[in-house]
Amino acid sequence: MLRPDGRLSHDLDPQDKGPQDACGVFGVWAPGEEVAKLNYFGLFALQHRGQESAGISVSNGERIMVFKDMGLVSQVFDEPTLNSLNGHLAIGQCRYSTTGASVWSNAQPTFRATTSGGLALAHNGNLTNTDELERWLKERDASQEVPHKDRMDSTSDTALVTAIMATYSHLGVEGAALEVLPRLRGAFCFVFMDEHSLYAARDPQGIRPLVLGRLANGWVVASETAGLDIVGATFIREIEPGELITIDEGGLRSQRFAAADPKGCLFEYVYLARPDTQISNRRVHSVRVEIGRTLALEAPADADLVIPTPESGIPAAIGYADASGIPYGLGLTRNAYVGRTFIQPSNTIRQLGIRLKLNPIRDVIEGKKLVVVDDSIVRGNTQRALVKMLREAGAAEVHVRISSPPVQWPCFYGIDFATRAELIAPGLSTDEICRSIGADSLGYISLEGLVASTGLPKRSLCMACFDGVYPVEVPAGRAEKMRLEQAAVEQGANA
Ligand code: SF4
Repeated sequence: MLRPDGRLSHDLDPQDKGPQDACGVFGVWAPGEEVAKLNYFGLFALQHRGQESAGISVSNGERIMVFKDMGLVSQVFDEPTLNSLNGHLAIGQCRYSTTGASVWSNAQPTFRATTSGGLALAHNGNLTNTDELERWLKERDASQEVPHKDRMDSTSDTALVTAIMATYSHLGVEGAALEVLPRLRGAFCFVFMDEHSLYAARDPQGIRPLVLGRLANGWVVASETAGLDIVGATFIREIEPGELITIDEGGLRSQRFAAADPKGCLFEYVYLARPDTQISNRRVHSVRVEIGRTLALEAPADADLVIPTPESGIPAAIGYADASGIPYGLGLTRNAYVGRTFIQPSNTIRQLGIRLKLNPIRDVIEGKKLVVVDDSIVRGNTQRALVKMLREAGAAEVHVRISSPPVQWPCFYGIDFATRAELIAPGLSTDEICRSIGADSLGYISLEGLVASTGLPKRSLCMACFDGVYPVEVPAGRAEKMRLEQAAVEQGANA
């Protein structure tokens, strides 16, 4: 998709967009270390969580500097820029936009100058009560006689939180956070800072992951454990749902701003998180292999070869092959770097569609009955093109197996799937979807099978995109609309 600056976003084909995560955050407090460079590498490890913009803010104890721009981490930062960001404390973020457009002013970290110093803040997640927060900020501005329009220079929910916190600057950043955090609803993992301290907070449901690590002479906070690994930090623990931590020369302090009510995102295990990341003491790769095993038992196929849709389908395909006894092979090669290009695609290039991303290995698949394991079906365009491509490359049969249940509902907690109208699953049976994508057979893992494969209790997970049960209230208008849609679906099922 073309952007105003003439670059392309990662959506070469807007009709073929997979689930998009809503950011990675990273923070480091480490006197004597090159904190900006540590942050840079941390964001590299989290790049899969957001590719639209990147930013780092650094404090040297006296002032905070922020550098951010549109693009990948490697496009935004170079050596001279990083060398100019000196200090002992830094936070960073790579963004995919949910609330607020993908424009420079919404890139993060956000920054506010307050009467007691600077405040920089970075966010992974999506808030669901932004209307209420907007009203709150207006009230605060009115009470402090600040013109509201002067307060807001961007349109993201993150900027709103930063602005509200700034109105409580007389309490210090920690006091302001304890005032504001309990009134936020939805998914939020924050890393934030003043000139002296690093702070991190996670919503009471712990919807998105956030972990704490230790360096020899400092601390690291990251969206995923893969962000700790890349900078050589030792995993200490997850930031608890409803917890605020503060790190400075006094050490680490922990406070609760809300009781924990865990509802971790089930989709992190299916697709979003890196396979080498650990969430709730489970290695994501191992969970995905287990999901593949369960899928093989629930949706067997008579086939010669199991192939994954790379990269995200690989662990589940390994599990499927293991449980089914069908050999595993790589039948598709991924063009790893094509998703982000500076070339403006003509219509001819757009029509190449999935071929820009995947290329079949004809020798492997020719004449074979294939099981193709993929992580999810959103609109169905990808799988339709994939099945066609495999048939053209000589596959005798194509049996599609999906390592998540049908995606039926939108996510309000930081994952951009599509609108409900764009999703293929609502209103269509599995057989109808199978016909729509042109496969010989189609099978999904059940929700019960998926949950069991994680080894986690169902009550501790959010699975709203599969079952429509939202653990945190979603925006009123949309909730109402969905209730009507849900009723229609239920009526149809009962008819
Ligand atoms: S709705 Fe789906 S993607 Fe969103 S947080 Fe819940 S499980 Fe994750």
